[in-house]
Amino acid sequence: MKITSNLILTIISLLFFQMQGKGQSAECVTDYIHKNRMQTDSAYRNQIVTLESQIEAITQNQANNKLKSTLFTIPVVVHVIHLGEPIGAGSNISDIQIQQAIAGLNNRFRNVNGLGVDVELEFCLASKDPNGNSTNGINRVDGSSIPNYSANGIKPTGNTCSGAVETAIKDLKRWPVSDYYNIWVVSKICNGGFVGYASYPVGGLYDGLVIVSTSMTSTSGTLPHEVGHGFFLYHTFNGDGGNVSCPIDTNCIINGDRICDTPPHKQGDCATTNPCSSASEWDNSRYNYMSYCPLVTRFAQGQKDRIRATAIVSPRASLLTSVGCGPLGINEISSNNIFSIFPNPAQSVINVKADIKLLGSSYVVYDNTGKTILKGTITSETTIIELGNLSGGIYLLSVGENLKQSFKVIKE
Ligand SMILES: [Zn+2]
Repeated sequence: MKITSNLILTIISLLFFQMQGKGQSAECVTDYIHKNRMQTDSAYRNQIVTLESQIEAITQNQANNKLKSTLFTIPVVVHVIHLGEPIGAGSNISDIQIQQAIAGLNNRFRNVNGLGVDVELEFCLASKDPNGNSTNGINRVDGSSIPNYSANGIKPTGNTCSGAVETAIKDLKRWPVSDYYNIWVVSKICNGGFVGYASYPVGGLYDGLVIVSTSMTSTSGTLPHEVGHGFFLYHTFNGDGGNVSCPIDTNCIINGDRICDTPPHKQGDCATTNPCSSASEWDNSRYNYMSYCPLVTRFAQGQKDRIRATAIVSPRASLLTSVGCGPLGINEISSNNIFSIFPNPAQSVINVKADIKLLGSSYVVYDNTGKTILKGTITSETTIIELGNLSGGIYLLSVGENLKQSFKVIKE
């Protein structure tokens, strides 16, 4: 058994170095890291398996999918780990470049070019830091004191390439992953071997996305690609053994990239016909942000469903109620002692805590189509609202005089 897994690791390592040599701009090291952890870290493997079953349950139950017309907004913090250059030079890219990169990312997620689907999910640079202070969502840290960083950039955990230890770089600056999607902009990855990588959604201190400064641009295909990984998308060619064979395609729900409208292919196949399959919409794969093809223009509907299902379960769900992009959020309302709600996400009940002056106010729970699901009156300082019969998803709870205070509630 040990020999087998060592052999597999060796093969993966060989493929990894082959991939480095080709130098395609879109190539990322996410897969390598993921496969390595799947083999060596049982807690990680269990998390991925659990998450897969949650995602499958949500995406396969479209009647339960009340999320289609809700715009999700994800607070982002960008940490620029530079080499001591002045702002705007070298790896210390300017604020405007970062803002334009996020705008470009949003254009791709919102399907501004009209070629794919609108994921109805977008990203905002944080306006509040973890202490509640104002921020532009961009931090800058000189990383040159970390051994090997100046020469080789960052080395992702589990890799054998040259570079600074990943956790040492990320420890220079990181914000809580429960409230912010962390993006680290670095000088190089593996001394130039890769342009980006992202954690699949498993949480933890170092969850987030790493991208080289030259790819953090408004036209970057790398940024939407890595964010796609961050929301649990695999490559469209997942399972091709490194461009060796057509991915297994017996059941599109559990094979390949687990997306049914992105036909499986080999990573090098991007031409007008797909040698692996004539089924489904080939353009969805060969022009997909999650491919390595030269022209990428779209996410597909199945990917949208998977991204959005990922967004409503742990660990990404808490980003939807983060106040990182303020100005008004649950914590802020709570700190003003008007109303607060907990827990959120909720399972069977939600508690509304109200100032005594506000007893007798009304509350209404709406679904995402605006339909009233529940209503009642705040009769004590803590009112319990039963959610047990509602299906999982996002609801709006409005409360108070003229129902002026509204909270996004996630029912798990
Ligand atoms: Zn990738």
